[in-house]
Amino acid sequence: MSSLQSLEISNKRVFLRCDLNVPIKDGEIVDDGRIRASLPTIKFLLESGASLVIGAHLGRPKGEISSELSLAPVAERLRVLLNREVDFVAGKRAHVIPHVGKGHVQLLENLRFSAAETSKVQSERESFAREIADSVDCYVGDGFGAVHRSHASVYDLPLMLPHAPGFLVSAEVEILEKLTRNPERPYAVILGGSKVSDKIAVISNLLDKVNVLAIGGGMVFTFLAAQGKVIGKSLVEKELIPTVKELISRAAGLGVDLLLPTDIVVAPAFSADAPATVVSVDGIGEEMMGLDIGPASAKNFAAAIAPCKTVFWNGPMGVFEFPAFAHGTRVVAQALKEISGMSVVGGGDSAAAVRSFGFADSDFGYISTGGGASLEYLEGKQLPGLQALDL
Ligand code: AMP
Repeated sequence: MSSLQSLEISNKRVFLRCDLNVPIKDGEIVDDGRIRASLPTIKFLLESGASLVIGAHLGRPKGEISSELSLAPVAERLRVLLNREVDFVAGKRAHVIPHVGKGHVQLLENLRFSAAETSKVQSERESFAREIADSVDCYVGDGFGAVHRSHASVYDLPLMLPHAPGFLVSAEVEILEKLTRNPERPYAVILGGSKVSDKIAVISNLLDKVNVLAIGGGMVFTFLAAQGKVIGKSLVEKELIPTVKELISRAAGLGVDLLLPTDIVVAPAFSADAPATVVSVDGIGEEMMGLDIGPASAKNFAAAIAPCKTVFWNGPMGVFEFPAFAHGTRVVAQALKEISGMSVVGGGDSAAAVRSFGFADSDFGYISTGGGASLEYLEGKQLPGLQALDL
């Protein structure tokens, strides 16, 4: 397996792909977890005598320059966290400052301001990657949250240069490997969030590996609909009901303990101040929408997690952004904190949820920085950004 220590970096110009895709509201960074997670590799490279050109993306600008998706606030936060100057050319498309010396740090503007970064046409991506490759000596891939994308800076560029994974990517892969190969049992997977379509493949791939599968969030209503329950105005992906029915019967055949909520917190509207009521899963009114798992379900999920030696959690149990619908997510987070085995929190939303509740990163075994990437890894897919790094 390739490693950062085996790459020659002293006095070299290193292109470092990071995942700095942090939530920003009104110009302020809401959660800088991904920036902090990038620091060990950045510091190591600087201490090893490299100069750095850091490339990253923010949101989905689709090839257009957008001031809201500028990495300028990230450059500012990096300056503070590194306590050193970081060059950033605001407002422009990414371009590498030529001929800078040892210890110099440059953060390029949002790589996705160039349509070529995400182009489906290989030659367009390659010529964009070539421009960067010509002004650096080697490549370090540490943007775990983007490794499932075959984008120019993730896939094409490392193929053109001596390369190695950064510490974050190596750590993420090590954890995900543990989850897929021989996890310590009992092994529970808890899934939530808004869409079943995002998680069908991972459920399908993990079903014969897990002991407990607990489902909450907006996605659970497609499961409840598949069981013939009235779900009112709750989120649902009707076209997936047949697939979900198949998954439910496969889980039963495999002896997997499939946990669905028995009570739901409902409200007449999707809003922070909508009146919240707890109802049985059989009592969701036609005019109501389910916005959280109920307290009995949360307790039940927590009890199922307690004896587990490995737990992977992706996706909030409810609309945790609204305090009235945050209880289920908080209880699951607390249960994860208390297990004696390995707990892995996967994905931006789940990580933001646990931090917003005041949990520390150290309360969990591992907080993955990449929701989509970790799910695709667990689906058993080959991820382009890892393949390009020989992982
Ligand atoms: P995802 O991006 O698929 O991980 O979904 C995360 C989002 O799902 C969060 O912003 C939650 O507010 C939302 N969510 C969780 N539960 C529900 C629900 N019952 N109804 C609507 N949205 C939900």
